[in-house]
Amino acid sequence: MAYVKDRSGLSANRIGLNPRARENGVNNGSLPGFLLFGLPWACTMVDMTGVCESTRRIGSNAYSDPDLRLPSVARDLSELVPAIAAVHRMTTAEVRELATRWRGCREWIAAELDRADLEGARREELRVFERLGRAAWRLVELRTQQERAVTCPACWFVGLDQPPYLAFEGPPNEPLKPPYAVHFGDPSRQRCPRCGYGFGLDDDPDDGSDPISFEVWRWDWRDRDCPWFDVTRRPGG
Ligand SMILES: [Zn+2]
Repeated sequence: MAYVKDRSGLSANRIGLNPRARENGVNNGSLPGFLLFGLPWACTMVDMTGVCESTRRIGSNAYSDPDLRLPSVARDLSELVPAIAAVHRMTTAEVRELATRWRGCREWIAAELDRADLEGARREELRVFERLGRAAWRLVELRTQQERAVTCPACWFVGLDQPPYLAFEGPPNEPLKPPYAVHFGDPSRQRCPRCGYGFGLDDDPDDGSDPISFEVWRWDWRDRDCPWFDVTRRPGG
C-alpha cells in the first residue's frame, strides 16, 4: 500500500480564484490535487501509486506553465470523479473554506463562465471550482444535518451515538409534549452521555410515572450543576 494521502493541493486558495496566489505560483499543481483525491478508494484499496503519480505529473505540468492548457486526459478525469468524493477527502476546515468561498462568489463565477473570451485553462479552473465548491457546500449541509440529528434535545450535547428518535432531525424549536415518539418516531432507548436524559425512558416511563419533558430535565440538570452522566465521555476527562 504505497499510496500516501497528500493534502498539499487541497487548500481552497489554491484553485485559481486568488490572482496573487496565481502570480506566486501557489496554484501550480493544485487542480490535479483535487482530481487525485477524487479517487480515494481506488487508490487506497489497491496499489495504484503509478496511476496517481502519473495523474499528478500530468496536472503538475499543465499548471506549472500558465501557457499550457489542462490536458484532455485530466479534463476527462475531472468528469469521471464525483465532486462529493473529492471534497470528502479534505479536512473539515478546508471544506468549510471552499464552501464559503464558493457561496460568496458563485454569481461571479457564473458571469465569468458566460464570457465568450474567457481563456480556456481559466475556464477549466473555474468550472472545477464551481463543481467542487458546490459539492463542498452540499457536504457542509449534510454534516450539519448529521450533527443536528445526534444533538441531545435536552442539553444540546452533539455526539449521541445515534439519533434519539427514528425521525429526529434536530432539537425542536418549540417545546413539545412528551412522549416524543408521537413526534419523532421510535426512541433509541439510550441515555444522553452528558445530561443522562433517556430517550423513550424519561419521556415515556415504563412504570407509569409522569413523563419528563426535555425542558424540565434541562432545568433540573442545570440545578444539579450539569453533571456528566457518562464521565468517560467528558472532554478531557
Ligand atoms: Zn443531553
